[in-house]
Amino acid sequence: MRSIDDIDVAGRRVLLRSDLNVPLDLKGSGEITDDGRIRASLPVIKKLSDRGARVVIMAHLGRPKGADHAERAAGGPSLHVVGVRLTELLGKQVEFAADLAGPSAAATVGALTDGGVALLENVRFEPAETSKDDSERARLAARLAELGDVYVGDGFGVVHRKQASVYDLPALLPHAAGDLILAEVAVLKRLTEKPARPYVVILGGSKPSDKLGVIGNLLGVADRLLIGGGMSYTFLAALGYEVGNSLLEADQIETVRSVMAEAERRGVEIVLPTDLVVATHFAPDADSVVVPADAIPADREGVDIGPDTRALFAAKLIDARTVFWNGPLGVFEFPAFAAGTRAIAEELTKVDGLTVIGGGDSAAAVRSFGLADSAFGHISTGGGASLEYLEGKTLPGLTALETD
Ligand code: ADP
Ligand code: MG
Repeated sequence: MRSIDDIDVAGRRVLLRSDLNVPLDLKGSGEITDDGRIRASLPVIKKLSDRGARVVIMAHLGRPKGADHAERAAGGPSLHVVGVRLTELLGKQVEFAADLAGPSAAATVGALTDGGVALLENVRFEPAETSKDDSERARLAARLAELGDVYVGDGFGVVHRKQASVYDLPALLPHAAGDLILAEVAVLKRLTEKPARPYVVILGGSKPSDKLGVIGNLLGVADRLLIGGGMSYTFLAALGYEVGNSLLEADQIETVRSVMAEAERRGVEIVLPTDLVVATHFAPDADSVVVPADAIPADREGVDIGPDTRALFAAKLIDARTVFWNGPLGVFEFPAFAAGTRAIAEELTKVDGLTVIGGGDSAAAVRSFGLADSAFGHISTGGGASLEYLEGKTLPGLTALETD
């Protein structure tokens, strides 16, 4: 992969795909709750600007809904709040375009001078960005290509997505990989090439349908899988337990059963919660109790791992020499249900080996506990992207940057 040091950017318009998908406090103020991904994106923006490029940043935020740009723009979330934070952190005005490939983008980019920085509105306001239809994505990519002379890919968190700004656009312009992507790949390589064992993978979070698919492939990688958070309920259901109102992917139960059988054959340990914190409903002040994993009341939902599970997971981490963790083990945003995620984050700081935490919410969680980034081997900006890399999958965004 070419790096940005290999390309000439002075006086040229550089279309930079960054990952600025930061968690927002959507129930409250709409403020950014963890700006780690913005900070991680700064070095390349600075470097390009210092070298006299006209930097045009493309990024997504959240999962906008609606039929077209107008509907999605009305529903949000807008990247404007990110532009404000970026301006503060960069110490330099970041011009904001109110659309992606429309009149505002053209005017904003046209007005940039050498070293200037602009941020385009949420790429996912254009439904074509994430379209499965190659020609729809290609049309959007062609419109975006009008705005730049060079493409730089630095959004590691989205390299596993075959999307217009990640996969199709680099094919239309001279391109290079940004420093963040190169650094992330360098760390993940260490996890795939002769990792020290035992190698423990911890999985949690709220996107079981995205992540259940990857577990099968991790059986060839890890010695132990510790499973908590939203995806654990599908495992508990596969064991025949009642899971009440907890997150459940009923159509994945069969897949999970075959994964468990395969793990047993291969001698990979799958460690599930033995007790859980269950709440009456999804709210910070919901009434909650701890119950055994096989006794979840039908009218309750699991929101955290319980104290026995915290101790069990800690014991499974004591001798680990490599750990990869993606996905909070409970609804850590609500202090009452953060104990499980916090306990495991603290255990990780004691591991004698390489510890990598991946994922926007996972990174936000460990930082919210006041743990320094330096307490871990690496905090990756990519959750899904890191997982797919570890599985040995080809990542479209990396392929696009590798291809001439
Ligand atoms: P990452 O961003 O690190 O990849 P995800 O986006 O998959 O992680 O998941 C993060 C979310 O998972 C958090 O917002 C957290 O509240 C939620 N979560 C964790 N455990 C549960 C649970 N038991 N029920 C509902 N949501 C959960
Ligand atoms: Mg997330």
